[in-house]
Amino acid sequence: MSFEQPPSSQHPRFWDSPNPATLVFKAQDSECLFRQNVEHLAKHSQVFKDLLAFPQGENSEGTSANPIMLPGISEHSFEQFLAWCHHLPWQDDSSIIAAAGDERVDQLLSLLHLGDMFLSRGIMLWSIDRLQIMGLHPAQLLGIALKYRIRSTEWIDRPVKALIVSTPISNITPQHLDWMTPRVFLLVAKAKEAIQKERCLLAARPMLLPMDDPLRPFCADHKTCIRSACETWALVIASKILHPVNPLNILDATLCNELLRSTPFPRMKPECFKEMCGRMEMKQGFTRHAAGLVDGVIQVIKDYIGLNPILENNSIPTD
Ligand SMILES: [Zn+2]
Repeated sequence: MSFEQPPSSQHPRFWDSPNPATLVFKAQDSECLFRQNVEHLAKHSQVFKDLLAFPQGENSEGTSANPIMLPGISEHSFEQFLAWCHHLPWQDDSSIIAAAGDERVDQLLSLLHLGDMFLSRGIMLWSIDRLQIMGLHPAQLLGIALKYRIRSTEWIDRPVKALIVSTPISNITPQHLDWMTPRVFLLVAKAKEAIQKERCLLAARPMLLPMDDPLRPFCADHKTCIRSACETWALVIASKILHPVNPLNILDATLCNELLRSTPFPRMKPECFKEMCGRMEMKQGFTRHAAGLVDGVIQVIKDYIGLNPILENNSIPTD
């Protein structure tokens, strides 16, 4: 009866006792060997489940002498993956919080990547849930969403709005471009240009003002109301819409409607002012076209992800 001698390169932490379900693995960048009970890993990963179903012959891979190679996977990444599968300190949020911001993001991204490689939905959702609160740049959020098929509001809708509305093109770096991919950047840039055009149109466009109707006059001196409305729009509202540094966010209906309601329109009759504000709100006068543009970009990006996203909504199901 012979026993396999533990090699000197065995991993100090991930070296299970041998049994018919243990296999030996070797990461790309190290001589260190991992001996793992694949039955346990199969609970978390379809790849290991398939491996378990594969009949092991005399000369099969998976021994210390002939380990299963893990191309593209570093020793550190595989350690993290195994720690997650064994519910070791990875599962304890405090140990991850202890890592500094960028380092923690890198660790979570590495785990997400391995979750994807080993077809582990549980690991992917766990990593996504934690990455979501790391304050990532919208371009990075979009890049991760595209790469790992995340089609939720937090990962697509919000970053797209942030990039279109509040991120100047001059602030976009090559790193951002790498993250979000050139085709998504092009969509965002085109939407920004279209929204700028919409601002110009909105600033110049006559308001949804109730014009005088001989059959239904609004007030006894409605010409004065119209003059007041046109003058105030040109002098006050249009300058806020086109402000060069801090333009009015024409996607924010509440903000736009508040601006209109709080702006004094001298000599305009209160009932005509009320009618004008009501029409703007009802017909979404400020936001309709811009919101439609942004929704279009969001839909195109969601279509890029295609069918079978790893996450559709923001609910993170338990695996
Ligand atoms: Zn009037």
